[in-house]
Amino acid sequence: MNAQLQPAQDGNFRLLIGGKLVAGASSFDVINPATEEVYARCPRADLQQLNQAVAAAKAAFPAWKATPLAERARLLNKLADAIESHAAELAPILTQEQGKPLGGAHFELAVAAGNIRGFAQMDLPEVVLQDDATTRIIRQRLPLGVVAAITPWNFPVIMMVTKLAPALLAGNTIVVKPAPTTPLTSLKVGELCAEIFPPGVVNVIADANDLGGALTSHPDVAKIAFTGSTATGRKVMASASATLKRLTLELGGNDAAIVLDDVDPKEVAPKLFFAAMVNSGQVCLAAKRIFIHEKVYDAVVAELAQIAEGAANLVGNGLNEGVQFGPVQNRMQFEKVRGLIEDARKQGKVLAGGKEHQGKGFFIYPTVIAGLPDSARLVCEEQFGPVMPVLKFSTIDEAIERANNSEYGLGATVWARDINRALEVANRLETGTVWINKHLDLPPSVPYGGVKQSGFGVELGQQGLEEFTQIRVINMAKA
Ligand code: NAD
Repeated sequence: MNAQLQPAQDGNFRLLIGGKLVAGASSFDVINPATEEVYARCPRADLQQLNQAVAAAKAAFPAWKATPLAERARLLNKLADAIESHAAELAPILTQEQGKPLGGAHFELAVAAGNIRGFAQMDLPEVVLQDDATTRIIRQRLPLGVVAAITPWNFPVIMMVTKLAPALLAGNTIVVKPAPTTPLTSLKVGELCAEIFPPGVVNVIADANDLGGALTSHPDVAKIAFTGSTATGRKVMASASATLKRLTLELGGNDAAIVLDDVDPKEVAPKLFFAAMVNSGQVCLAAKRIFIHEKVYDAVVAELAQIAEGAANLVGNGLNEGVQFGPVQNRMQFEKVRGLIEDARKQGKVLAGGKEHQGKGFFIYPTVIAGLPDSARLVCEEQFGPVMPVLKFSTIDEAIERANNSEYGLGATVWARDINRALEVANRLETGTVWINKHLDLPPSVPYGGVKQSGFGVELGQQGLEEFTQIRVINMAKA
């Protein structure tokens, strides 16, 4: 794979439909959130191109399904190699459309390549369920057909390939639709796919937030792998019902961090800060409500406020050296997070951050807010930005009850010296993942997913692969 990716300029991004890199029916602006200027024009698919993409995926399905799994895995490994070897070209595009610092963009590309390789090592063997004198029963796992992958704007590349790799390994074909504010790196990954996979196996289209419904209701789409907000997830589920499409819904979260009374405040505070502020807080699994035991509350909060004040100097354009916190990704999210801060100011106390950024860019300084009731919007809604509410608790029962008091159930963290006590807390939390004394450890072999209104189905792991299959049982009489 030696093709050079085109530099990011007008007209240099193309859709991938049926193996061809094509212009959109029209185009739209992609805004750099650090400058609020137009970074590039993005091709925009219309309904006809969406239908062409689905038709191409449908046409490619029989041959791809018949391709041995080992060959499908080989091509996926080639994609992982290509993402790595093009990282120097892809990372600045990701930074300029998403806002994350260059280091974060490189990290995202490395994780994406690692996730692809993780899936490429997996297998879907037949399983013999019964084998005796009279009967042999075999369970097979078969692909579903055309998969639609719909992704959000916080980790565009990871979200794309974490759907694409298991879908393709299992023998499905795919149509990818990234978020309209971050479509460009996904289109570039599409260009890499064009060099590797047979025509139609991978299709990548971009929209102006108007084609999701057509994709999720398309009669030739068998499965939707969706990551995004709970509100949109509900629409996806309703739209998919007409043809009973299979669904994986990775939705919103409002993860609790529970800090027990035996922690060392100096040691735990930087980890908590990272858990809340990584990717400028725009992580589904970010710590979004920080419950701290009253015995260590003052000391931990003082540390957090100090770290947040220091971190204000590390906020900026992700292309600049030393920047660790980029802008919030788009204006709508920026206004939402600012609104939550203003609302929280009325009931609580801003201990750090919270100041308006002067000049261009959707920048929000890492903000710590204390003294809020659990009913405050910043506590009960998903902020998805660099703002952490710190909340005091007296007993473990109280902390668990308040943590579980949410429509969401994606992840949680527990922080303690005594691992056994932490484990007791973890065992009572209603979430898909609980980390103890760590955060965001997501190896490709380990599934993650939400409970309650954080969605259903999992990504990653063998189970994440099996989400892209259906079972067929062969039950034969021997005598
Ligand atoms: P969003 O729901 O606004 O958009 C997600 C995607 O859905 C975009 O591609 C969008 O164009 C598309 N879309 C919009 N309307 C649609 C419709 N009617 N039918 C089908 N698709 C439609 O989400 P976002 O703002 O891009 O992302 C932020 C949200 O994603 C947060 O809530 C975050 O927690 C969640 N998220 C969850 C996970 C997870 O793994 N659970 C991971 C990352 C982000």
